[in-house]
Amino acid sequence: MRQVYGVIGNPIGHSLSPAMLEAAFKEVNIDATYVAFEVKEDQLKQAIDGVRGLGISGLNVTIPHKVAVMEYLDEIDPIAERLGAVNTIVRKGNKLIGYNTDGKGYLQALLPILPKSLKEMRVLVLGAGGAAKGVAVTMAMDGVKEMCISNRTVSKAEELAKECSSHTRASSLPIALAQARLTEFDLIVNTTSIGMTPHVDQMPLSLEMIARGVVVSDLIYTPFKTMWLKDAEARGAIIQNGVEMFVNQGAVAFEKWTGVEAPRKVMKKKVMDKLGGMKC
Ligand code: NAP
Repeated sequence: MRQVYGVIGNPIGHSLSPAMLEAAFKEVNIDATYVAFEVKEDQLKQAIDGVRGLGISGLNVTIPHKVAVMEYLDEIDPIAERLGAVNTIVRKGNKLIGYNTDGKGYLQALLPILPKSLKEMRVLVLGAGGAAKGVAVTMAMDGVKEMCISNRTVSKAEELAKECSSHTRASSLPIALAQARLTEFDLIVNTTSIGMTPHVDQMPLSLEMIARGVVVSDLIYTPFKTMWLKDAEARGAIIQNGVEMFVNQGAVAFEKWTGVEAPRKVMKKKVMDKLGGMKC
């Protein structure tokens, strides 16, 4: 029987996940469909009951449900528990198990473009929201040399730095100080939504002080190349947008659902086609 997978979120209309994952199932000859379900916040419990009742095989979870969904699941993977957010639900028999694939997806995207080992790098993370948690904690667990976290709401940066400090040297840094100390960092990651469509003329931090060869990474992929990434590129930085992370977090979810290696090239091509065939 044809399997059903999907993504829940609100809004969900512009999600690239259905096109990307349907292409993946087709490529490896798995008879499955992938549907975007718009689920309002007060309908989350009914939606998860529906997953159980209808025998849906697996789900991705996006804003605003990544935290709230945890209470409706049977088990939470230790990494998702640690991050306090679930973006993937796997059905095992009658159980629904929550995972977080954002951090692993980010790391899989990042490692191939680094000029040296992550363990030798001092990292500045801008933002301390849901995506920042996955990215920062996973990098900390992988053993970066040092990590600083700057966020508009300082208490959230402090909390995230505390979480990371059980794995590496980590601290929160006021944005003005991060700006002043920019030359100290080998990798600067924007996990905020600053610069995302429609606010494309905004930047999370001025890059005037960066050295050539620094890695500047932006989780945003609409626009494909933010004004911040364009500025970084013009200053000689190695840049990466959020497409690779998006593809890899979906690929890791696909592998958890199916046990089959995800066709990452096909998935990326589908995403690029949907984004209009641009290049970073
Ligand atoms: P979130 O939990 O809402 O966090 C948003 C973050 O941005 C917070 O740190 C917030 O600071 C900061 N922020 C927002 N507007 C700001 C402003 N005007 N000035 C200063 N700081 C501001 O959202 P999220 O889920 O982490 O997503 C963040 C970004 O990552 C989005 O652009 C999203 O598209 C992207 N993302 C990409 C991927 C991918 O696969 N490539 C995956 C997940 C997310 P406060 O804490 O002070 O509010």
